Amino acid sequence: MHCAFYNVDTQIDFMEPYGALYVVGSEKIKTTLLKLTQLAKEKNITVVNTCDFHDEDAAEFSNTPDFIHTFPRHCVQGEHGFEYIEETTPELPFVVYKEQEEVSGLELNCRNIILRKNQFDVFNGNYMAKKIVDSLPYNAVVYGVATNYCVDYVVQGLLRLKKKVYVVKDAVKEINGPKEPQTTFSKWKSQGVEILTFQQLCGKILKIGG
Ligand SMILES: [Zn+2]
Repeated sequence: MHCAFYNVDTQIDFMEPYGALYVVGSEKIKTTLLKLTQLAKEKNITVVNTCDFHDEDAAEFSNTPDFIHTFPRHCVQGEHGFEYIEETTPELPFVVYKEQEEVSGLELNCRNIILRKNQFDVFNGNYMAKKIVDSLPYNAVVYGVATNYCVDYVVQGLLRLKKKVYVVKDAVKEINGPKEPQTTFSKWKSQGVEILTFQQLCGKILKIGG
């Protein structure tokens, strides 16, 4: 299967227990995340890495967050919490800044692309996201955090761009809170998203070639 990977927001502030907006239990998916990173390298698969990259005065920050529209301060540019965890740190990435208005074909040849964003939805938070994703393979493999927030925004954006979406269920983790994760999985299934394990993904990729 010819595909691109979408590594969603696997940043220290979400993935580490000491992070500013820790997704509880997300360390359990680290082993699978590392395998995905290694598989992408072995098979020369393009990885789009989305990343929260906030200013101090980000619209979603609040001292009294409701965890639906507002959250505690996190992933502020230049701070440690904004970095990717070791398992998913992109190798030699091409970084697309959120306000960037052009990218060249040469840049798009980089195997790792980082899309910096200042909103939940990368397609709203990064001007070039749509153009870049349009240029990538039909099959889109999605993983990262959090299932019922930023991962869902990536899935919805990919569906709007008519991609076939696969979510690696042992490489996503939800936020327990007002938005119920099971509802997200049901919605995805009804939209034709294929939910599969890392092992099942390997079967698809290795069978027909990377
Ligand atoms: Zn954020």
